[in-house]
Amino acid sequence: MNMHLRTLLSCVALLGALTAHAASGAVTALVGGRLIDGFGGPPLDRSVVLIEGERIKAVGTVDSLPVPSGAKVISTAGMSVLPGLWDAHVHTYLLGHSNYTHWDKTYGSSPRLAKEIMPAAAHQLLLAGVTSARDLGAPLEAIVEVRDRINRGELLGPTLYVAGPFLQHAPYPGTENFRWGINGAADARAKVRKLAAAGVNIIKLIDQDQMTEEEVKAIVEEAHAHNLPVVAHAHRPNEIRLGLKYNVDCFEHIGLATAPGYPQDILDLLAERTAKMSLGPMFWTPTVSVLYNYEYLRDNPMQLDDPAWQLDVPADIRADIQGSIRHPGQLGYFQITPLRRPTLETKFHQLQRAGVVLLVGTDSGIPMNFHSSSTWREMDTWVNKMGVDPMTTIRAATYWPAVQMKVEKDYGSISEGKYADIIAVNGDVLRYIDLLQHVDVVIKHGVQRK
Ligand SMILES: [Zn+2]
Repeated sequence: MNMHLRTLLSCVALLGALTAHAASGAVTALVGGRLIDGFGGPPLDRSVVLIEGERIKAVGTVDSLPVPSGAKVISTAGMSVLPGLWDAHVHTYLLGHSNYTHWDKTYGSSPRLAKEIMPAAAHQLLLAGVTSARDLGAPLEAIVEVRDRINRGELLGPTLYVAGPFLQHAPYPGTENFRWGINGAADARAKVRKLAAAGVNIIKLIDQDQMTEEEVKAIVEEAHAHNLPVVAHAHRPNEIRLGLKYNVDCFEHIGLATAPGYPQDILDLLAERTAKMSLGPMFWTPTVSVLYNYEYLRDNPMQLDDPAWQLDVPADIRADIQGSIRHPGQLGYFQITPLRRPTLETKFHQLQRAGVVLLVGTDSGIPMNFHSSSTWREMDTWVNKMGVDPMTTIRAATYWPAVQMKVEKDYGSISEGKYADIIAVNGDVLRYIDLLQHVDVVIKHGVQRK
């Protein structure tokens, strides 16, 4: 057989296969909605998104892109269609219980963590429209197992990028299974290598101002040698200074307790860092909504009764959580929060002006901060309290976190060839961002989950 004939025949075979594929309904078409693709340009009205298998096949409009016959059509008329959300800071090992000591002791080393608690958190995140999340701190074996089970399709949840245990100077008593102490540079390298071998996606560094500089340097160098980004807490000034000095990739939390703003030397260091294009963006996840909204929640606790956070949570654990948050105004954890709230706007705007790329992340799972609603609340706080425009906010929950994890070729936007991680919500989210509290359609890797 000559080459031309062979090519022709295989083309015909391929065409036949494709036709059969389409006829069997393997193409899904989202038709009619207003598309926000994640790239930041104007939205595309009356859009058509074609999905084949796990991936996006084509993007157009009802005028430019015909829907193949046999496609499964999902009408998105009157809806905003956007990339599946990312939450850049979740803790699936927590479900909003207010007493960490009790939680860690009761569930921290229990098989229920990987069998019940983390799967419930993951399912709740997915139904809230979160199709990707960074899990920044959890017992190692449990979180790797849950991530892998989600990836194999055995559990419903977002694609997880996991840190496993926090690396810090010394674990707080009773938290040794998810906080690893560091004792010297060699130990730092060994622990990072152990995490890399276990398959984590990211390294979580905290309390680095209590470490030696050699230890901080060793952690970041060893992580980067294994292509693992490093996220670091930014609560205290020296955590930020050391993180910048040794090139961490992303800071977490707005930090600095009740101080009115970041000290000038830190702003200068940040500006020097963000001037270096070749290092890529400096990322920062401020996690402001849980702080900003505490007083409102204390005085209007009806959201604590939302059944959404109870989905898949066994009755005894649900009762345990409910009992712990019966008096939301009496939790020691939050007593300083009203003093922090008036400082949040200034700090947020200082970071924006310093040129860091802010990410939407929520610390989901900490007291009264439920996986079922944390992400839209953070976005709502950015838009309606911090004055961020909705498109920038959406990109901070889609495009940019994918860039931070270096997976933007596959995730974070709606364009040809990307994984079909797509959500749709009735109404105009560019005008009313809080519509995201009722996500109507969730598609992950081409499969409709809501
Ligand atoms: Zn956290």
